[in-house]
Amino acid sequence: MKTDVLVVGGGPTGITLGLLLARAGVRTLVIDKEADIYPLPRAAHIDHEIVRIFQELGIAESVMATSRRSSRYDFLTAGGEVLMRFEGMDRIGPGGWPAGNMIHQPSIEAALREGGRKLDTLDLRTGWTWTGCREDAAGTVSTVTTPDGETEILARYIVGADGARSPVRNAAGIEFDDLQFDEPWLVIDTIVHDPERLPKINLQICDPARPTTCVLMGEGRHRWEFMLKPGESAEQVLDDAFIAALLKPWNVDGAITLERKAVYRFNAKVATQWRKGRLLLAGDAAHQMPPFAGQGLCTGLRDAANLAWKLAAVLRGADDRLLDTYQQERDPHVRPIIAMAMMMGRTVCITDPAAAKARDEQMLAARGQPPAGGLGHQPFSAGCLVEGSAGAGSYFPQTLASEQKLDDELGTGPWLIARSKTLPSNSDVKIARTTTLGEFGAPLEAWLEKHDAEAVLVRPDRYVFGTGAPDALLRAWSDWIAPKSQPTIGP
Ligand SMILES: Cc1cc2nc3c(=O)[nH]c(=O)nc-3n(C[C@H](O)[C@H](O)[C@H](O)COP(=O)(O)OP(=O)(O)OC[C@H]3O[C@@H](n4cnc5c(N)ncnc54)[C@H](O)[C@@H]3O)c2cc1C
Repeated sequence: MKTDVLVVGGGPTGITLGLLLARAGVRTLVIDKEADIYPLPRAAHIDHEIVRIFQELGIAESVMATSRRSSRYDFLTAGGEVLMRFEGMDRIGPGGWPAGNMIHQPSIEAALREGGRKLDTLDLRTGWTWTGCREDAAGTVSTVTTPDGETEILARYIVGADGARSPVRNAAGIEFDDLQFDEPWLVIDTIVHDPERLPKINLQICDPARPTTCVLMGEGRHRWEFMLKPGESAEQVLDDAFIAALLKPWNVDGAITLERKAVYRFNAKVATQWRKGRLLLAGDAAHQMPPFAGQGLCTGLRDAANLAWKLAAVLRGADDRLLDTYQQERDPHVRPIIAMAMMMGRTVCITDPAAAKARDEQMLAARGQPPAGGLGHQPFSAGCLVEGSAGAGSYFPQTLASEQKLDDELGTGPWLIARSKTLPSNSDVKIARTTTLGEFGAPLEAWLEKHDAEAVLVRPDRYVFGTGAPDALLRAWSDWIAPKSQPTIGP
């Protein structure tokens, strides 16, 4: 079997990457060792940026139809005082969708897989297990175990989106940078029968007697997480009677039914190398974080958005140094997010009463203020950018006009948005003048004004390539993207 890109792992990262590649005309094979979508509780939150990616994939409306919003995310003492508060999660974020959205991960994965059915360029095979590969100058040859026996798959590139244990990462001999977080938690998802009896906002109960998380999920579901105490085993806490006792203080008997339960060890790790020759890593294979910031899946989908257009360009003949910008951009972006998740985790996971008292006193003195910058993310400082130009590497907002969204107006691929009267033409970049963009024009003008720029070139993943004069931006873009060799895409 032959394909342009083999994606190992059909979890959220792998299937999103597969969809983005296939929509860019890249023949993509996504394989997953499991017969079906992973059934245990995991992501409950996605941010505005992820819904914008889903918008491109045509599933945003269906995801939003069953997602819910919490206006606040409160970290409370055992007595209910506010240690730290994040607000505005229900307001529109820079991606043009609500900043925080509570979801049911298996439903989202099902919507993504369904989206793939319509694409001739995407092939998803389940029950296929990647076992290893060899690499030469032209491509890779993988061995895969299928229900019908062993087969070989030829691919130009392999992306390991194969989760935390990543066989692809292990085969490549890539190590982890262990950021030292390791806490065991029981996670339970419940079906809700009486929403009125459940909290309406997301909560971390920083009670040293039992650190506890209680968050919304997609419509009809609610999640609790309970930290295991020293000496407690997974078997013990997974017992239904034990779980009923943990839920007793919440007074939800009869309002919910247990749906899924699992014990996880929450870790924080980043792969030291995200690319080795023709092997790349994405999602949990490249990084892991405790779930307190609700960013693991989001980070994997940002990897997919960053990598998809670069792989497509390289397969069309762009210099493959473009792929080196993947880790260069993504690694420094993910580390502060992991640091935030660890800070939240370290706030919650205190079981020593004296240490909890000291934490409470210190944080109550700060009056619940979240860290400066809140949940915002840092721009890239180096990579496929016009380095030094205003706004380069930052996330380009999706402006809204009445019921319309900018991305629907301008479409996929790179954009050049300018306020200049005369504009160059370019068949590979969508060129738009602010004055011809109707209601979108004013906010785009304001963005350019703020950055003191005549034009901005926005990459397909909606990060800013650079600002400056339109001709210079197009030339700089072409230096990265224009084919330098024969395309290797297709049969
Ligand atoms: C309790 C909990 C709560 C979380 N909450 C959030 C949250 O609110 N928000 C958020 O953004 N993230 C959250 N996360 C993290 C999020 O769930 C993960 O980051 C996300 O699922 C990772 O997706 P992935 O596609 O990279 O990996 P996975 O989902 O692990 O997918 C990897 C896939 O690779 C397949 N695979 C593995 N080996 C092979 C092989 N040899 N051959 C073929 N296929 C293979 C597996 O079967 C699997 O389907 C949470 C996680 C946990 C545990």
